[in-house]
Amino acid sequence: MKYKPADRIQDLQYFGEFGGVNPSISDSSTYTFLSAKTMFDTFEGNAEGCYLYSRHSSPSNLYLGEALAAMEGTETANVSASGMGAITSVLMQLCKAGDHIVCSRTVYGGTYAFLKNFAPQFGINTTFVDITKPELVEAAVQNNTKVLYCETVSNPLLEIADLEALSRISKSHDLKLVVDNTFSPLSISPAKLGADVVIHSLTKFINGSSDTVGGVVCGTKEFINDLRNVNDGAAMLLGPTMDSLRAASILKNLRTLHIRMKQHSHNAMFLAKKFQEDGFKTVYPGLQSHPGHEIFKKMMNETYGFGGMLTIDVGSLDKANELMELMQERNLGYLAVSLGFYKTLFSAPGTSTSSEIPEEEQKEMGLSDGLIRFSIGLDNDIERTYEMMKECMIEVGVLDTEMV
Ligand SMILES: *Cc1c(COP(=O)(O)O)cnc(C)c1O
Repeated sequence: MKYKPADRIQDLQYFGEFGGVNPSISDSSTYTFLSAKTMFDTFEGNAEGCYLYSRHSSPSNLYLGEALAAMEGTETANVSASGMGAITSVLMQLCKAGDHIVCSRTVYGGTYAFLKNFAPQFGINTTFVDITKPELVEAAVQNNTKVLYCETVSNPLLEIADLEALSRISKSHDLKLVVDNTFSPLSISPAKLGADVVIHSLTKFINGSSDTVGGVVCGTKEFINDLRNVNDGAAMLLGPTMDSLRAASILKNLRTLHIRMKQHSHNAMFLAKKFQEDGFKTVYPGLQSHPGHEIFKKMMNETYGFGGMLTIDVGSLDKANELMELMQERNLGYLAVSLGFYKTLFSAPGTSTSSEIPEEEQKEMGLSDGLIRFSIGLDNDIERTYEMMKECMIEVGVLDTEMV
């Protein structure tokens, strides 16, 4: 049977303390115990259902975590204060000094900077590879490799990782396959395709209102308990804890994620086709011209589409900046990093979200100067949006009026 992530969220039933249709928000950092013995057992991790201290867990955070675990089809999940809080905790939990990571070379700038500049200080080294070439991935595995890390849909180049192929490699070398699924919630369910750990930045599509940062780690009970262990758990000891009030508000937004993703995908598909017809080098996983199109199709939960992210190349950074400024002036979206908002967001990755990546390496991976990354919004009338965008493109001279 097909995996139905949105139904699994819908099927959850949480009530508030007083029968409220939303769970009550836990507004406490610490919790009382009726007996001292239970407090001791909770410290030891042996008292299921008891709360100790909110850096460890809180009812509101558990509600959100369980909803996200239902979405991803994992045993459980742990929410965190940001996506980076989730990513760094997972990697610090899985790797010790002397260990090695194989990572896609096109990952989120913060992840790249962490692996390139920060983790080596702790003796954890990374080889960056072209994730679309499984044979290169396998060749990069060493005796001390512990983790294979990638994004389902990569940032910002929208490369598609063949998760089933990567899972076979990771299983045959006894690695943990860790997948950041931030760009493709609902559309792709990495755990169902063999990922051991699935991470999201909740900041993006899942929360969808650009009002907070947040993250989650979805995995087995054993791994999530390890992360929260009071003696050696990275989430517990590094402390990237989400606040309960935020967890409650993100849970409410999660419930409309399926409707939003369908609209993001619909709008992005429409624009991607138009931009491609207009002669722009357009990257969108829903286009047949995308090298990862077939792999995405093979992996996807169809109803949610190919997602809301696309890129076009307008030739130069100056033109990209000019176009983005004009589109913002015409209220077609915001010149801003991040993604998943109701408004379209656009930025030039080379000088923003991927600026951590040295220029030389940007070139090598195909991150060109004129690249604009779009997170397509929930526009009600995408045809109207396109017409207005086209006017901007003609005005800044990146679209030939002869052609249109
Ligand atoms: C934004 C982002 C992150 C980091 O998440 P934060 O919530 O900003 O810490 C990680 N991975 C991807 C793919 C992202 O887009």
